[in-house]
Amino acid sequence: MAQPINMDLETYVEKMKGLGLCKEKKNDWAVLCPNCYEEHRAKGEMNYRSLKLWVDKDLKYSHCFRCGTVYISDDGSLDTRVRSIEDPVDFNNFKVVKIENDPYFTIDRFYTFSEYDEIGVNYLASRVYLYREMYKYLKIRFDSDHNPVTPFFINDELVYYQIRIIDKSSDKKYHNPIISHKTPYILKSSNPITHVYICEGTFDAIALRLLYPDATSFAVLGSDITTYQIAILRTMVPDKITIFMDKTEISLRIKDSIQKYINYCEIEIHKSNGQDPEEYLKEKIVNDMLFENL
Ligand SMILES: [Zn+2]
Repeated sequence: MAQPINMDLETYVEKMKGLGLCKEKKNDWAVLCPNCYEEHRAKGEMNYRSLKLWVDKDLKYSHCFRCGTVYISDDGSLDTRVRSIEDPVDFNNFKVVKIENDPYFTIDRFYTFSEYDEIGVNYLASRVYLYREMYKYLKIRFDSDHNPVTPFFINDELVYYQIRIIDKSSDKKYHNPIISHKTPYILKSSNPITHVYICEGTFDAIALRLLYPDATSFAVLGSDITTYQIAILRTMVPDKITIFMDKTEISLRIKDSIQKYINYCEIEIHKSNGQDPEEYLKEKIVNDMLFENL
C-alpha cells in the first residue's frame, strides 16, 4: 500500500528542493517518491535517493516510474493514490531464496571447495585469457574434479553456486544445486547501479563486466526471465536495461516480460544472430590485438 503524504504536491516539491532531492526535467520535477523511500527504509536501506517520482509542473499530478504510485493534489492533501503497474511478486512477503533441501550442496559446502586448482584455472583461461586473474575477484572456487564453482551473491550474501563440469565426456555442462527459485547471477558495478545488462549464463555475465565496466551484469540462467528475477531486478532500480541474449528474438521476449513490471526505464536490445556476450568479447579482444599490432 502506498504511503499517503499530508501535503499537496507544491509543498512536497518545495520540501524536496530544500533537501536537494529535486531535478528539473522538461515538463516535470523529478523528486524522491515517498512510497519507494518508505519501502527501502523498511528493509534497512537508508540510502535510497532515486528521483523516480515525476511531478507535472502544474503540480497537480505525479507518477512514480519505479513503484507505479500516482499522487494527485486534492484540496491541499495528497491522499489519492493508485498503483498503475502490477508487482511481479507479493513484495510484502518477498524473501531472497538460498540453496535449500540439497542433501550435499549446502551453503557451507562452498567454503570447503579449494581456492586454487591449476587445471581449473587453466580451463577458465582457455575460455578467455583474462579469466586467469579475474576468477579470484569473482571468488570462484574448485571442486575435487577441478570444476570451477561460481558463487552467487545477492546484497553481498552468498545464496547459491553453480558448478561448471569441465570433463568433455560429460553430457551435463553445469550442475545446479536445488533451489526453489532460479537465482540470477549478478555482478555489480562498483558505482551505483544505473545500467544493467541482462544475459543468459554466468560466463556471459563475466564477459559483460569486462566489456562494460560501468554496468552491472545480470544472468537469468536460461532463455527466459522469471518473475522472481524481475522482482530482484526491480529492487535495483536501474535507469537503463540492455538485453544481450544470443538471439534477438529471445531478447525481445525477455523485454516483453520485463516491461510488464518495470515501466520507468529505457530497455534496449543488443541485436545478435547467435553470438553471445562471451563470443563477442573474444572477437573484440582479437580485433583489439590485431589493431595494436598493425
Ligand atoms: Zn515510488
